[in-house]
Amino acid sequence: MGSNKMPESAITYEFSRCMQCFRPIKTCYCKYIEPFDPGIKFVFLMHPKEAFKQRTGTGRLAHLTLKDSEILIGIDFTENKRLNALLNDSNYVPLLLYPGEDAWSAQTESEGQALKEMLGSKTLLVIVVDATWFFAKKILRLSNNIRPLQKLSFKAGYKSQFQFKTQPEEGCLSTIESCYYLINELKSAGICKDVSAEPLMNIFKRMVAFQLESQKERERSGEPDRYKLAGGIRAKKAAARKAKAEAEAAAKFSNNCLDL
Ligand SMILES: [Zn+2]
Repeated sequence: MGSNKMPESAITYEFSRCMQCFRPIKTCYCKYIEPFDPGIKFVFLMHPKEAFKQRTGTGRLAHLTLKDSEILIGIDFTENKRLNALLNDSNYVPLLLYPGEDAWSAQTESEGQALKEMLGSKTLLVIVVDATWFFAKKILRLSNNIRPLQKLSFKAGYKSQFQFKTQPEEGCLSTIESCYYLINELKSAGICKDVSAEPLMNIFKRMVAFQLESQKERERSGEPDRYKLAGGIRAKKAAARKAKAEAEAAAKFSNNCLDL
């Protein structure tokens, strides 16, 4: 009696996704991830809207590749207990990975030297805001605990390989590329462990290649590009449903993170 089939919609969101990389199970990236320890602690601050994006979200892949890194989800982090515990931990020197004229670069001799002196035997804690520029600015504006941090960046001029995502301006890099270039610059300045950061670029390139292939596949099959349909009513409704599911999942995940 009865059918043991679950409604299609219930299965799709809850069970078809890898809970680590958030890719659909059949295209899970986890087997390609080679975790390594650069001797830096990375903390990714994710806007709830970014937290479960599997198509273009590279913060999660960076987190899976960087040992001793964490993801914290929120918008205003001022009262975030985990973040505040890390910021107040005297074993760490926290800096904010963020571009700007006031950002230090390890490649600038005086700033690299200042960084070394500041660190001594402590561990560098790099806070990364993993969000679109719009949301990154909002997170920074609201979070009184991270706004005063010294900014750290890298020399300009790296070009993103993120060919399928429209960046607001030339020179915008994905989160995973930013971590890659930062580690390389810190490494060459003798500030972090002498390890290869290539696992970051490897998984990123794999993701880009996979996305381009999927895009071509859609074009070949004549399937309408769901991103081009974004303005359509159906797509809008679907986006609203997805956003709701993501927000719910984010709330659940965020609660889990507090237990870490
Ligand atoms: Zn996975």
